[in-house]
This record gives sequence, structure tokens and C-alpha cells, in this order.
Amino acid sequence: VKKSIFTSLSLAMAMLLLLSTFVIAANLSSPGRLWAGAIWALTLAGFTFLIYRTGKVSRYRRLFFVIYAVSFVLVFISRLIEARGSMALTSDVIARREAPLCPVALPQLLLPAVLKGTLIFPTKLVGGPYGGFYPILFLWFVSVVTLGRGWCSWGCFFGGIDDGFAAILKKPSINPAWIRKWRLFPFAVLMFAVLLAFATMQPVYCTWLCPLKVVTEYGAVTNTVRLVQAVIFVTLGVGLLFLLPLLTKKRAQCGIFCPLGALQSLVGVVSPYRVRIERNKCNGCRICRRSCPALSIGNEPSGRPSIELTCTRCGQCMDTCPQKAIDFAFIGSGCFSEGRSLTSRFLGDDPSRLKRIALGPLRFLEEMLEARTFFVFTAIFFGATLSGSFVPDALVRLYHLGTAGTLLIK
Ligand code: SF4
Ligand code: SF4
Repeated sequence: VKKSIFTSLSLAMAMLLLLSTFVIAANLSSPGRLWAGAIWALTLAGFTFLIYRTGKVSRYRRLFFVIYAVSFVLVFISRLIEARGSMALTSDVIARREAPLCPVALPQLLLPAVLKGTLIFPTKLVGGPYGGFYPILFLWFVSVVTLGRGWCSWGCFFGGIDDGFAAILKKPSINPAWIRKWRLFPFAVLMFAVLLAFATMQPVYCTWLCPLKVVTEYGAVTNTVRLVQAVIFVTLGVGLLFLLPLLTKKRAQCGIFCPLGALQSLVGVVSPYRVRIERNKCNGCRICRRSCPALSIGNEPSGRPSIELTCTRCGQCMDTCPQKAIDFAFIGSGCFSEGRSLTSRFLGDDPSRLKRIALGPLRFLEEMLEARTFFVFTAIFFGATLSGSFVPDALVRLYHLGTAGTLLIK
């Protein structure tokens, strides 16, 4: 499933052209940001080329995703400290409804917003540094109808953290078999979070359980209740974001806890893409099942692997399958794999140079129309748009750290 150099270069150039506009628009605040933006746009075009040319989707996606998550956390925390003096969410900020809305909070907000017309999160409907409720809702909607649960491997602000830790060791230090038993737990967390939020008209999951608070903002610890909440989020955060991914090589936060991930799995069926296993190529070795960081490959009664609803479309199984039996597919179609393409049928096993040149345009057309081409391009563009201001800002701050000794700019 490697693409030709011409197709890969064309797609990378198209990505660079598109991103140039976005990066310029997102980084007009200073010449330093503009330079950093140009570097990031070039890097993303490079990742685009490498994914298509080498056929290794997850290898370069993961690199992008980790850089994006680290940059997001670094910039988000720095901006909070610049604006408030600390990462803590104070009663003042709550009263002014100035808390940035995290997409993971969305499932709790939908029922109270639709049925009671109340926004139960202390953020603005529109406005504030990260847009407010409607822009985040729009972002979620776009991601779910285009990428489905691909959000969790290409767009999530935090996903690169557990994904990165899961990639550090070559082999798991503890047998990950037990963690698979918990893979439906996010659906229970989702139901609990949605119902409790509606019953209490409070974002209870955010206040009591969210493990992501270890890398974003948290309620200021001013009394015993807040202290208990802090102990819970630190324990869950360290366990699910760092320790379990490191030891099991599985994305624990994403695979066994996150309620937004569960919602994406359910609503993501509207997306036009799927990950499919080509039955006549698969030899049943189950390497894909072991390598899936999201615990999303199950077993059919025949013992063959099957892709489950929770698939985050990361591409890891495609990278590791020795038979090249897994690929992206359009909904309702099979895999559009190289082995069955028109070009390869015409070319035969040992094509002459002339034949290859003559069939070049047909191959280009076929490669451009594959589900993999569309999905990967859309996913990189989506992630690139979200990271377009964070990564350049992080680069400028790191430069500032080297020259002025601090990440804070104001
Ligand atoms: S790694 Fe490939 S060949 Fe092995 S079970 Fe999975 S799909 Fe089949
Ligand atoms: S099934 Fe494949 S694409 Fe889906 S989450 Fe697992 S490794 Fe990633």
C-alpha cells in the first residue's frame, strides 16, 4: 500500500499549499510565530509524504500526534499562568464564565443544553481564548462526520500523551490481556457522566474524575473536598495517561476510560470511512490484535480478527500486518488494495519500464481515489488545523526558554 513517488509528492504539495494559508492566518502575531508556523507546515507536508510513500500510517501519525499533544499542554499551561498566575480554576474565573471548554466535557453538556437550555460548564456560548461552547461543538461535529472516532488518533489535544507513552517500550512490561476486559468501560463512564450531569445540572465528571486535569487546569485546592478531588484526578491521570500506557503499550485513557471516545465510537458510524480486514489475505496470525493500542481488534467466532466499533483509525494494525491485509475503506465497500487494482492487473508480475510509464496516469488516478488517500489527507489536515497555532507557539516559547530562561512570554 505504498504510493508512487509522484502521488506522494503531489499530496504533500497539496497539503503544503492548504496549510500555508492556515498557518499564516493563525500566526500573524509576530515574525517569530510566522517562521515557526512555516516550519510546522513544512514538517506536516513531510509527514504527509512519508505516510503515503512508505505506507506506514501510524509511525508518522504518532510522531505528529505526540508533538501536537506536548505543544498543546506546554502552550495551554503557559497561557493559563500568563493570564491568571496559576493553572488553578478559581471562583472568579467560574463567575466570569472564562474557563476554556474541553471537548471531553461535551457529552455532559448536550442534554442540559438541549432539554433545559442551560450551559452547565463555566464557559461562554461564543468567545474567550478558545472559542466557547458553539465553536467546540462545531469542531466535534466536523470531526465526527469526517473522521468518526479518528478524532482520538488524529485530532484530540491530549491523545498524543497516552499514545506516546504506549510507544516507549518495545514490549509490554505487564501482560496487557487483563486491560482488554475493560474496553467497554468508557461506555459506562459515558452513561454515568451524561445522566449524573443531567440529574445534578453540574459537570460531575469534570469536577471529580477527569484524568486530564494533570495536564490542564483544575479546581484550586481550597478545602477538603477539593483536596479529595485533586487526589482522584492525580491518581487517575498518572495511572491512565502515563503508567498503564507505558507498562501495557495500550492507550489506557483512550481505551478504557474516556467518555468522549465512547461517544465518538457511537456517533462515528456516520463517517464515510472504515478500517477493514481483507479476508483472503489474512492468515489469522493476530499480530494486529496484539499491536492495536486502542484494544479495538476482537475475534470472530472463526478465530479471525475483527475491527470493533472503538477503532480510532490510527493505522497501527496496517503498519504491523505482515500480509498487508488491513486498510482504510469507504463505508459499504471492501478494501481497495494494490493487489486488486486495475493497474497491477495490467502490469503483471514483472512489468517493463515502458509499460509502467504508460500506465502511470492510471496508477495516479487509482491511488488518488483510494479510501486511504482520502482518509489520511483529511485527518492530517484536520489535526494540522487544530495544531496550527499551538505548535508554532510552543516552538517560539522553547526558543524563548533558551534565550530568556522562561516559557512565559508576557
Ligand atoms: S496481522 Fe494481518 S494477517 Fe495477521 S491476523 Fe491481523 S489482519 Fe490477519
Ligand atoms: S484496529 Fe487498527 S486502526 Fe483501529 S485502533 Fe486498532 S490499530 Fe488503530
